[in-house]
Amino acid sequence: MRLVPGATIGILGGGQLGRMTALAAARLGYRAHVFAPEPDGPAAQVTDLATVAPYDDPAALARFARAVDVVTIEFENLPLVALRKLARVRPMRPAPEVLAICQDRLKEKAFLDEIGVPVTPHWPVRDGRELARALRAHGGRAVLKTTRFGYDGKGQSSLEPDADADAAWTRLRAEVGILEAWVDFEREISVITARAADGARATYPPVENRHENHILARTVAPAAIAPELAAEAQALAERIAAALGVVGLLAVEMFMTRDGRLLVNELAPRPHNSGHWTIDACATSQFEQLVRAVCGLPLGVPEPFAGAIMDNLLGAAVEAWPELLAEPGARVHLYGKREVRPGRKLGHVTRLTPTAAPGSPGKVS
Ligand code: AMP
Repeated sequence: MRLVPGATIGILGGGQLGRMTALAAARLGYRAHVFAPEPDGPAAQVTDLATVAPYDDPAALARFARAVDVVTIEFENLPLVALRKLARVRPMRPAPEVLAICQDRLKEKAFLDEIGVPVTPHWPVRDGRELARALRAHGGRAVLKTTRFGYDGKGQSSLEPDADADAAWTRLRAEVGILEAWVDFEREISVITARAADGARATYPPVENRHENHILARTVAPAAIAPELAAEAQALAERIAAALGVVGLLAVEMFMTRDGRLLVNELAPRPHNSGHWTIDACATSQFEQLVRAVCGLPLGVPEPFAGAIMDNLLGAAVEAWPELLAEPGARVHLYGKREVRPGRKLGHVTRLTPTAAPGSPGKVS
C-alpha cells in the first residue's frame, strides 16, 4: 500500500507528538486528521481536520475511519476495542496487537523475555501480600509501578526491602502492579527505529536521557558510549521492532548498567520525546519517518549531520522563551499549551553540537 501526497493520515492522540507528526505530514503534502477528547490541543491547532470525542465513542470512530486513509497513534493508552474497530476499516500502523503488548508493562516484559531480550527482574503483584512476598524474594531496593496508564513516572514508587507493603499497595491504587528490581544504572539511553511494512528499517543512533523527577529533562545525541555498545543497542531495537511487527516507529528505553550491559526498560511504538532532536539534526526526523512508514514511502536516512542537546521546557521553564529566541542557534519549539503546570511538557529547545560522535551513526537497511 502506498498513499500518495494528498492522502489523510489519522492520528489518535492530540498532544505535541501528534502536532509534530501533523507538521511533518504537511511538509510532505499529506493531511492530518487528529482524534482526541480535548478540543484545541497541540495537534488539533495545526490541522483543520479534527474529531473531538472520547476514544471509545463508536459513532465518532466510524466517522473518523471514513475520513482518513490510514491510522497511526501518538500515545499508547488507547482502548483496544476502539483500535480493533478502526483496524477493521482502515490500516492501523502500528497494529492494535502491538499496542496490546506495549500498553501493559507485564505483557511487555513477558514479550521481551520470550524473545530473549534482557529486562530487570520483576514480579507481578495483585495485593499487599504478594507485594510483601516479592519484596522478600528480591531482597533489595525496588520500584513498584502500575502496569497500565503510567507515564512520566506517574504511578511509581521506590521501595526498600523493609517497606510497609500494605501501605505501598494501597497508595498504588491499581488492580495489578509490577515490582521491578531497582537498576543502579550508569546511564539511560534510548534508540528509535522506524520500520516499514516490507521490513525496511532506519535506526537513529542511541541517545542519552537525563530525567528529573522521573520526567525527561535532557537528551544528548548521540550518546557518548562505545561504538560496539551503540551498535548492540540499535540491533536490539531493530530485533524488538521486527518481533513486534511494528509498522511505524519504536522507541526502546534502556538502562546501561555499570558493567556495560543493556536492560530494556520500556517500549513506545510511536514518536518519542528522546527523538525530538532529530527534527533539527537529521535530514529525516522521527516524525517524518513515521509519516513515511505509515504511507508506504521509502524511509529516510537517520544519519545526524550534527550532535544535539535537547532540553524539555517543563512548567515555568517555558517562560524563558524570549531569551531562548534571542540565543543564536537555539531551535525553539513551543507546543501551544495554555496552562503552565509544574513538570508539564510545554516545549523544547535543541542546540546543535559541532559533530556527531564517531562510530555511532544511524543506519538504514
Ligand atoms: P518508566 O516510567 O518505566 O519509563 O520510568 C521512568 C524513570 O524512572 C526511568 O526513566 C528511570 O529513570 C526511573 N526508573 C524506572 N524504573 C526503574 C528501575 N527499575 N530502576 C531504576 N530506575 C528506574
